[in-house]
Amino acid sequence: MTRIAVVGGGLAGCLLACVLAQRGEEVVVYERRPDPRTGTAERGRSINLALSERGLNALRRVGLEQQVLTDGLPMRGRMIHPVTGPLDFQPYSADGERAINSISRGALNNVLLDAAEKSPTVQLRFEHRLVELDPETGALVFETPRGRVHAEAGVVFGTDGAGSAVRGELVRHGVTSETLDFLDYGYKELSIPPRDGDFALEPRALHIWPRGRSMMIALPNPDRSFTCTLFWPNSGTSAFASLSSPAAVERFFAEHYPDVPPLAPGLVDDYQHNPVGLLGTVRCAPWHSGRVCLLGDAAHAIVPFYGQGANCAFEDVTVLERCLDNTGGDWTRALRLFEDSRRDDTEAIARMALANFIEMRDKVASPAFRLGRHLEHT
Ligand code: FAD
Repeated sequence: MTRIAVVGGGLAGCLLACVLAQRGEEVVVYERRPDPRTGTAERGRSINLALSERGLNALRRVGLEQQVLTDGLPMRGRMIHPVTGPLDFQPYSADGERAINSISRGALNNVLLDAAEKSPTVQLRFEHRLVELDPETGALVFETPRGRVHAEAGVVFGTDGAGSAVRGELVRHGVTSETLDFLDYGYKELSIPPRDGDFALEPRALHIWPRGRSMMIALPNPDRSFTCTLFWPNSGTSAFASLSSPAAVERFFAEHYPDVPPLAPGLVDDYQHNPVGLLGTVRCAPWHSGRVCLLGDAAHAIVPFYGQGANCAFEDVTVLERCLDNTGGDWTRALRLFEDSRRDDTEAIARMALANFIEMRDKVASPAFRLGRHLEHT
């Protein structure tokens, strides 16, 4: 029997494996995808994260902060793009020194996979998709390219993201109840490539185009491109599906985002071929059942408008570590303490993330807002 199974080798799962290995635990990480370090990224799903102190603190504890920051770019404020008129830079701190960091989620995942793989007590199993879990016994069933594989573990962590199969199994066995609140908005990735070998926009800022019904943001990449994310309703007359021809896409951007088309030669192609991602909030309780525990997005996925989903997932790992210390490594008590310590904070950030959507979409462009506040986060 494996001592600890971590289902989901994303951000939370890999960091958790590193931390548990530091404590001398034997860990097997099961990941449904092939090893992402050997393949190519899925189109339109590159996702740049704004990584802030909560996340960096967790990475520092496993010695990865500096390595991750080497691949990142500090953003010291918001750059607001109005439809007409000059750009408006709003620093995140009065001295202009504080920054959040633009990091590629894929690159961050790869750094964490490397670190987990280097730990002598961690094994990584790719192409293992969890399909069944018995929360009582810790028996697990995975679908793999070679057929079904059975395993068993003393403790099981579900770090398998917003659509968690572990959470699904806890619900199926009557342990946990869940609510999934999908936003009527989706997101689509677009790209601004380097211009004459340099950044086409100011690289030390998180760029925002607040437009009320729609909104776009752009974060810088080390290769001097920007990844843009357009947020727009999923349905209705002013929504993603309403732009059904290249001419309609061009007209929409010329009217609402006029500074973007000259910087984004692949705009129409990106728009037509990149998928629309879903956004929502996951709430469930309890997160644990004796030997099984949800962590990261699997327990509390949030909408991305506060830039805190991954930061929160990393902070979960830090809190869990403290709970293990405080309970002398008694897993049942530690998992209960983890949920008790963490629930209020994750519910608060879920509410703040939804509220920040309104702020980013509308208020950052208002004169009252500009006069009144220096901004702390995205
Ligand atoms: P995930 O990263 O989703 O990892 C889950 C892993 O589990 C994946 O590798 C998946 O393949 C695997 N898996 C899934 N099902 C199974 C299964 N059945 N069996 C085995 N493995 C499975 N957060 C921030 O902090 N800052 C930001 O600026 C930010 N911006 C965002 C922008 C967008 C557009 C989006 C969508 C999200 C953003 N986030 C941001 C949120 C962040 O991406 C997530 O909170 C974070 O990835 C959660 O990490 P996780 O490990 O819990 O889940």
